[in-house]
Amino acid sequence: MKLEELQTLDRRFLMQTYRRAPVEFVRGEGALLWDSEGKEYLDFLAGISVCSVGHCHPAVVEAVREQAGKLMHVSNLFYTEPMVRLGERLSQSSLGGRVFLSNSGTEANECAIKIARKHAHGRGIESPEIVSFERDFHGRTYGALAATPNLAQNEALGPMLPGFRSVPFDDDGALRDAVYEDTAAVMIEPIQGESGVYPLADETLLAARQACDESGALLILDEIQTGIGRTGSLWAYQQTPVRPDLLTSAKALGGGLPVGACVASEDVSEVLEAGDHGSTFAGGTVVSAAALAVLDLVDDPALLRRVRELGAGLRENLLAIDGVVEVRGRGLMLGVGLASGIDAAELGAGLLERGLIVNVPEPGTLRLLPPLTVDSAQIDRAVALIAESLLSYSPT
Ligand code: PLP
Repeated sequence: MKLEELQTLDRRFLMQTYRRAPVEFVRGEGALLWDSEGKEYLDFLAGISVCSVGHCHPAVVEAVREQAGKLMHVSNLFYTEPMVRLGERLSQSSLGGRVFLSNSGTEANECAIKIARKHAHGRGIESPEIVSFERDFHGRTYGALAATPNLAQNEALGPMLPGFRSVPFDDDGALRDAVYEDTAAVMIEPIQGESGVYPLADETLLAARQACDESGALLILDEIQTGIGRTGSLWAYQQTPVRPDLLTSAKALGGGLPVGACVASEDVSEVLEAGDHGSTFAGGTVVSAAALAVLDLVDDPALLRRVRELGAGLRENLLAIDGVVEVRGRGLMLGVGLASGIDAAELGAGLLERGLIVNVPEPGTLRLLPPLTVDSAQIDRAVALIAESLLSYSPT
């Protein structure tokens, strides 16, 4: 089918909630993708930080094939080994408590919100409140949406869930002031991803931890984008001075399949009880097998060291390009700040034509999220393409 026909069908049969680039992808391998006309692309977006072990990693493909041929689904009324092993693996690699498996990031956050509210009710709080930072992104279901201040302003989708408030980004004083006895949780991203790759200062994270400890609130870190090795440690919080009470994961966890998780510390592992939460597909055998294969690949000190080294080299080479004014982020999660007058959307569209896939989260920023398995020649190629594009850039 020709691209134009696909576009016509898409417009006719799919709700128009996405702005898609005019490309149909048909195959992927490692950091490379091919479109329906055989053109090759270097993928520095990886499905928005999903394909972190590269497209169609043989170990993930094999795990999925084997499990799909054995048993795909039995419901959560029974035990299966991949699901329990995934819980064990996530718990032991982070907070040590219990895990609720979900199908997406927003659902992992819904679980965290439920735990925070129930925990608060247990402390006698009638109207618990959850505090986030402005420009945080936690998802699009109503609970997660209420904790996503920019999107929660969309009155056409109202009324929003009550019990949420936001404070200016990275403002430790405002955060301390906002946390009081009715606060159920502080729910934040250690590095804001969707809004343009903005890391929180360690002092702000420490202020959040301290404010939670003093008020009895829980600290929830949304590691849906930063987790699974993206920043050069399995979890981003491991490179900071704080440990959360709840951590949420998704995106790269399933290697391209939909799986999320809310991981609790031991102290809050028993808040949710039978009947409080559930999901038909969550913890399915195939996605759990895929996630275990991903964790086998990513939870590896050599790979994580390489992510830190490649990220440092990439940052340095980007900063040497004329037109790049700053590079934010950690590991292979980088936001490239462009000089004023450069339209990142236009630059991104030009890069796509040259065969490099990047993302434009805000007008002056390119976001780079290559697979963690990218090689240094591919990194050099991406830097060269960005440099060439900026050299020949003239605003339209
Ligand atoms: N939280 C963060 C930090 C995210 O980046 C995203 C997705 O971009 C989500 C939550 C929502 O995840 P999902 O799209 O899987 O529901």
